[in-house]
Amino acid sequence: FENEYTWGKAVANNSTEKFHESFDSAIDKVRKILGKKYPIIINGKEIYYDDCFSVRCPSDTEIVVGEFPKTSVDDTKNAISSAKNAFEKWSNTTFQKRVEIFRNCADVFSKEKFFLAALMTLENGKNRLESMGDVDEAIDFMRFYALQLENNLGFCKPTAHPNPHEKTQVVMKPYGVWGIIAPFNFPSAIAIGMTTAALITGNTAILKPASDAPLSSFQFAKIIYSVIPDGAINFVTGSGGIVGKTIIESKDVDGIAFTGSREVGMRGFQEFTKITAKPFISEMGGKNPAIVTKNADLDKAAEGVMAAAFGFGGQKCSACSRVYVQNDVADQFISKIVEKTKKLRIGMPWERDVFLGPVINKDAKTKFENAVSLAKQDGEVLTGGTILSSSGLEKGYFVEPTIVTKLPDDHKLVKEELFLPFLCIQKYDTFDDAIKLANQTEYGLTAGIFSNDDKQVEEFFSKIQAGVVYANRFASATTAALVSSQPFVGWKYSGSTGKGTGGENYLQQFMHSQTQTRCD
Ligand code: GLU
Repeated sequence: FENEYTWGKAVANNSTEKFHESFDSAIDKVRKILGKKYPIIINGKEIYYDDCFSVRCPSDTEIVVGEFPKTSVDDTKNAISSAKNAFEKWSNTTFQKRVEIFRNCADVFSKEKFFLAALMTLENGKNRLESMGDVDEAIDFMRFYALQLENNLGFCKPTAHPNPHEKTQVVMKPYGVWGIIAPFNFPSAIAIGMTTAALITGNTAILKPASDAPLSSFQFAKIIYSVIPDGAINFVTGSGGIVGKTIIESKDVDGIAFTGSREVGMRGFQEFTKITAKPFISEMGGKNPAIVTKNADLDKAAEGVMAAAFGFGGQKCSACSRVYVQNDVADQFISKIVEKTKKLRIGMPWERDVFLGPVINKDAKTKFENAVSLAKQDGEVLTGGTILSSSGLEKGYFVEPTIVTKLPDDHKLVKEELFLPFLCIQKYDTFDDAIKLANQTEYGLTAGIFSNDDKQVEEFFSKIQAGVVYANRFASATTAALVSSQPFVGWKYSGSTGKGTGGENYLQQFMHSQTQTRCD
């Protein structure tokens, strides 16, 4: 499988003058369409609303990126029934046809990459390199799931039976209607990955994007809805309390794929499975640790942890938010990472070489303020801690990348996910302590270790409780999993099913199997 996105390739391809020029002109193109009204899509029709919410650019809240419908309960129910009605037709298309449709969609995305990435940069504040990576990853998901379906012959497999008169096979069949509830942080990759998985396996879907970033997901829905039967994909925007709730409470929805916070995910899971046992696939965040041992390459470890902690402002489920450093090297590591962090360029994410854009919204900014004051009270702030409200950044939600230390190991800030550019550095004595502290969390998504001792790495892999674990990942300690090579999966409160996105076991979750026996 050849990935569109790999970090090394992305850095090389996207550091050229040509890349920057193409991105700059895509930004100009996107600026011309700012503030437009967008529709929802139900049963193959675009429906415009008067009652809309504004999606504002987090870098400059005076910019309205687009206006999206506050979908009513009735229309959400219409979307669900249109998905239900479309199921028979769509599930009866051949798997080869579905594969072809998603490969074509991936090709369109590939051609429009710059435009789609520029949209995202304005919409959620991701810098140009990371927005491009997000779109590339969406393309990878479409192509990888298409390949999975093809390699597994549509998930239909003869089985052996000792009685020659019994001819048996196992056929995986779609469940029916899926609700897809997507996050703001990967509005292309995650929204499209989950929706593709549902649709390509023959289910129909209702996609509800995050209200902070519906535009990137809309681009996908717009391409797909015109090439599949009416109602097979529906796109509805609006609040979780109305639209999300209606989807989750509906008895006509057969499965949910959710990525978002633990709180919303757990509530959704409980509500959705209250009466019947139905699949709820969730990925719900993390409090991801990195361990830096005394024999690590400290310069590289500092670089990797910094990238994983502050890339997209820590707003990745995979972000590194705790680092445990062996006492003997702690001061050295701290001075290296602090020095590097102070040099990070913060600014408008569409500008060249900006590393860090804004956090997503006002709530995130308030959460940052509260976390900093708590850190000042109970620990020590080593760098950052300030809301940036001058030098042209005052109209957005810009905060400094922040490193704190000396917090008790069981402190709220060391335990709870913040989804902010906020890193806690804790010290440890023995390697056993480090593993114990790293596991001392209710989450289990990603984790990293920096050590030149193979035995230590082996022990880390065997004892760490997390789904995606990396040793000596100097470019990005705990983030940037690659579709097909590194299935992305959460343990404990980080996920519900233990089967990773972009992995070989993911698609099967969107189908139930039928064991067919024909006797002669
Ligand atoms: N898959 C992404 C990574 O490996 C993170 C996705 C997420 O934030 O949910 O960094």
